[in-house]
Amino acid sequence: MDVSSLLDPLNDAQRQAVAAPLAPTLVLAGAGSGKTRVLTHRVAWLVEVENVSPHGILAVTFTNKAAGEMRARIEAQLGLPSAPLWIGTFHGIAHRLLRTHWREAGLPQGFSILDSEDQQRLVKRIIRGAGLDETRWIPREVTWFINAQKDEGLRPKHLKDDGDPTRRQMIRLYEAYEEACRRNGVVDFAELLLRSHEIWRDVPGLVEHYRARFGHVLVDEFQDTNTIQYAWMRMLAGSTSIPFVVGDDDQSIYRWRGARVENLQQFRRDFHGVQVFKLEQNYRSTGNILAAANAIITNNSGRIGKKLWTSGERGEPIRLYRAYNERDEAEFVVNGIRDWVARGGNRRDTAILYRSNAQSRVFEEYLLAARVPYRVYGGLRFFERQEIKDALAYLRLISNRDDDASFERVVNLPTRGIGARTMEVLRAHARANSISLWQSCAPCAGELGARGAAALQAFIELIGRLDADTSDLPLHEQVDHVIQASGLAGHYKKDKADKGEARLENLEELVSAARGFEPEDGDMPPLMAFLSHAVLESGEGQAEEWEDCVQMMTLHSAKGLEFPVVFLCGLEDGLFPHQRSIADVHGLEEERRLCYVGTTRAMRHLYLTYAEQRRMHGVDNYGAPSRFIAEIPPDLLEEVRPKVQVSRPAYGAARGHAPARPAQSTRPQRYTDDAPGSLKLGQRVRHQKFGDGVVLSVEGQGSNARVQVNFERQGTKWLMMGYANLEAV
Ligand code: ATP
Ligand code: MG
Repeated sequence: MDVSSLLDPLNDAQRQAVAAPLAPTLVLAGAGSGKTRVLTHRVAWLVEVENVSPHGILAVTFTNKAAGEMRARIEAQLGLPSAPLWIGTFHGIAHRLLRTHWREAGLPQGFSILDSEDQQRLVKRIIRGAGLDETRWIPREVTWFINAQKDEGLRPKHLKDDGDPTRRQMIRLYEAYEEACRRNGVVDFAELLLRSHEIWRDVPGLVEHYRARFGHVLVDEFQDTNTIQYAWMRMLAGSTSIPFVVGDDDQSIYRWRGARVENLQQFRRDFHGVQVFKLEQNYRSTGNILAAANAIITNNSGRIGKKLWTSGERGEPIRLYRAYNERDEAEFVVNGIRDWVARGGNRRDTAILYRSNAQSRVFEEYLLAARVPYRVYGGLRFFERQEIKDALAYLRLISNRDDDASFERVVNLPTRGIGARTMEVLRAHARANSISLWQSCAPCAGELGARGAAALQAFIELIGRLDADTSDLPLHEQVDHVIQASGLAGHYKKDKADKGEARLENLEELVSAARGFEPEDGDMPPLMAFLSHAVLESGEGQAEEWEDCVQMMTLHSAKGLEFPVVFLCGLEDGLFPHQRSIADVHGLEEERRLCYVGTTRAMRHLYLTYAEQRRMHGVDNYGAPSRFIAEIPPDLLEEVRPKVQVSRPAYGAARGHAPARPAQSTRPQRYTDDAPGSLKLGQRVRHQKFGDGVVLSVEGQGSNARVQVNFERQGTKWLMMGYANLEAV
């Protein structure tokens, strides 16, 4: 490849960066300005023009998906197999190093890697082994502590307890954990980086070898590096290798996991003669989308400050949809995708982005119902999540005691003293007599120790009680009761760090799912129908990676990607920005950067949606529209109205139409039932939550009928007629 064809597809600023002299380089630029493109072209430039051997190049990105794409792009540009290049994530590359230098690293040759679940199980065993109370020393919190230290490059010996007994115990557990890892020959994710950093630091000659080999180290998404990753890169670069890093301070979204946006500045201090390039032209998005993103991010303080522009067309306005509730939101999105496909678009060009994993469920349900293939990235689908499976296992046992898989799953969850030995006895008996584990409990009682037998008996009674106590309850109360009374909720509640909170939210979301569940077959008991529905939803539905399917992911997982059509959903205060972050300026600014990341994923069409009422985590929320919406200049936005016939007043038309989803409505529909036909424009009404107000307009029909009320205290709101439960005053 010649130089001109390498530089042709670049603008001036990009060329400057790609062809920069061989010195430490920082490319600092906003979303969609071609940072990743510059990085891959730089690799090509080094090989083609500077005659650097591909063996001498190390490129680091944030995810395996991104690494795969980078490899593909480089192959396409270089026309060379990219195998001799080292391209990967920080973890992937550190792993490769340890595999090569296991001896120096003090690891067995066949060391294995603990994933986060394994890691936590090990921590749990250690807590128990130390004779500590697990409710006081919560495995997740201890794991979180250990990982946070490792991410900062700290071993137990570096830590001081400062006379704090809790901290002292944490440090001891960290020590014991290290010892156990050593005995078992295992390493966790954080250890990969820390250990490879240490061998470079401590093994004479080793880092020199890599410095001599890798004359060039390139890092994408540099704003999200944490302390150990930065130290690792710095160690490798030393004073001889040349780092080339690209990033955007406005897209730093992993502060909560130890990322340090300050590394961008640190880099300029730590390396000598850093050349800085800024890119300002955006090639990804239409003018309107870009203007909206720029407007949102200007509300943050302490930015390095960049202004992006595009020479492309303004494009369509950003479409804003105010949904009545989360189901209406999902319906709107699915219809939008179907329209796009009907007009010849690919499904893979559409993305549904959301703040929290729990939001995916309703979309999945509607996509399944509409038979639109989809795929959820970076996160398990709702019914596959651990805590959901735990809850479903209890429910399954209630409806079928002989379900062995469910029995195994929850018999000792939360821990109730039913150990491996008890289970071995049960399994052997069940196998020998071809009966279920449940049926083996009674006959085995004699073979078990007194404690084991008592624990097992308590479990059997628990299941019996759960069954008896819930058999007359409506499905969602049944689910809720089981989650609480089984001890599952308490189990996850104790766990303040890591995923505990998210798991609780998901459990509450399961209650919501049960509440909105409409059995197709009226003859089946609702619980049984719900359980079969869950089985279907967890196995089927999701498309294969290569299929043309809708892309679903959280905003965090969408970093670096782009899609022609983006639905950014759930824009309500409390959800996005997340409740946790609203009170804290830094938290709020990180949420805003996340919003900037979300909007800048869109190339041509951007839809923003929010719901006036959202049933999430088992409760109804009436969140105000996200403050981020108000940060977008109104002339860039266009409100989308549902496609219903507007009639004024339309109430009469709604009569006789039962809401399409009766099972979904758990509130009394007092207004519709008691006072048909009497809702008029200008009428005073009372809402349970919002208080008194005046009817401003009524539109839509049947289950879509909605009413706009100006409430004295809460301002104007659209409510869904069937659910609003308005009283005439
Ligand atoms: P992000 O901040 O989201 O990671 P980025 O700065 O890495 O974005 P890229 O993904 O490299 O941006 O580029 C965004 C889009 O613009 C890509 O589709 C890329 O191919 C295109 N692009 C970048 N530079 C040019 C250019 N000079 N001419 C045409 N298209 C370009
Ligand atoms: Mg990029």
